[in-house]
Amino acid sequence: MSLHSLFDAAGPASPGGRMRAVRIGEDHAVAIVETAVPHLAEGEILVRPAACGICGTDLHILRHGFPGTRYPVTPGHEFAGHVVAVGPGVGHVREGDFVAVDPNVVCGHCRWCRAGRPNLCLQLQPIGVARPGAAAEFVATPASNAVVVRESLGAGVAALIEPLACALHAVNSAQGVKDRSVLVLGGGTMGLLIAIVSEVLGAGRVTLSDPAPAKHAVARRAGIADVVEPGALGPDCHDVVFEAAGVRGALEQAMTLVEKTGVLVQVGVHDEDATVGFNPFTIYEREIRIIGSNSCAGKFPAAVDLMADIRDRAAVLLGESFPVWDFAMAVDSMVAGHAVKTQLRFS
Ligand SMILES: [Zn+2]
Ligand SMILES: [Zn+2]
Repeated sequence: MSLHSLFDAAGPASPGGRMRAVRIGEDHAVAIVETAVPHLAEGEILVRPAACGICGTDLHILRHGFPGTRYPVTPGHEFAGHVVAVGPGVGHVREGDFVAVDPNVVCGHCRWCRAGRPNLCLQLQPIGVARPGAAAEFVATPASNAVVVRESLGAGVAALIEPLACALHAVNSAQGVKDRSVLVLGGGTMGLLIAIVSEVLGAGRVTLSDPAPAKHAVARRAGIADVVEPGALGPDCHDVVFEAAGVRGALEQAMTLVEKTGVLVQVGVHDEDATVGFNPFTIYEREIRIIGSNSCAGKFPAAVDLMADIRDRAAVLLGESFPVWDFAMAVDSMVAGHAVKTQLRFS
């Protein structure tokens, strides 16, 4: 059976049936494979993805490896879609519902889960990293990770709820942005969403910095008025600085731009073995706090609510989508910076 006819033949999902999926092997080669539709464990649902974002994590999985990845892996962790089957013991989600999914599957009983820090779970099994992801005809998830959303939101915007939840966690980590001066370094998906969330939460002034003119245009369309090149920053400092670029130069610059008693929130994902130079005197003298912010930490339901309010601003980030089976091409496009958020589409 050709891949195409298999896709066309995919009627209502039947766990135990066959489906197509993108697969990244240990050797980092991408293939489209025919595999079993996931069997649903207690409390799980089967989702037919409608849109799935690609992010830096996928690039790491594809090119160098990412901590916790179980190869061969089906990527895809920023997704929304329709529930097509419901496993035993599922209450709040029904077949036909449109859902956005928090990809972070946690154990619920380790010390970090019990402490209300699920993003730090000792047995974290993210969908699309340690569990099969959404770059497939079907993906299984615990129903407790799925939130029913209005279909009118649009699949692309619904798939932005996951990065929005990460942005909410980052802003929350800053312990208050209201009436404070906020600087965001990096105009990618995270930087833009952090800037939007900071404005919505009442920041006194929000400045976004990125070296790429194309990102400036998107940021302005998303309603961020104060967008500058990194070279135009300083000497003025900011109460809250978010490093959302994930590059050494941005973090080193961020360290110099934090106001006395201010906060530097480190959101950008650097290489595991990266190091940066910094001036400890500045941290001491200005009484600066440096805080890490890792993934979405239980902010998913709040992000669903917030997305209803900022839908049109978030939609500006969506520039380009690729058929799911062109996964490698979609990653190349993301790397080339053709869009702020590259997504996969499924029909
Ligand atoms: Zn992501
Ligand atoms: Zn845990």
